[in-house]
Amino acid sequence: MIALGRRAANTLLKTTGERTREHLFKHCRKWKRQQKVLWAEVRKETGKGKDCHAIRDLFADERCTGAILGFLRTTEVGSRVGPRAKATVAGVG
Ligand SMILES: [Zn+2]
Repeated sequence: MIALGRRAANTLLKTTGERTREHLFKHCRKWKRQQKVLWAEVRKETGKGKDCHAIRDLFADERCTGAILGFLRTTEVGSRVGPRAKATVAGVG
């Protein structure tokens, strides 16, 4: 599961710019509720919240992989980075 989440996250990393990810994970109004869940989870895992994390640090931290995967799944951001990533995320259930 972690490996699959990593793959989806890696695809996102490769296909979007830092600013786009920053927007999706922190600022996009469309995903506000999901961002809240994501950052609550990240804070639980790392003791640090949204303002203390650059997106690249978030992706680099293995403790945050589960939270990222959940975010990708609930927002369908994965579907923005190609059908393969979507299938991967969907396959995780
Ligand atoms: Zn937006």
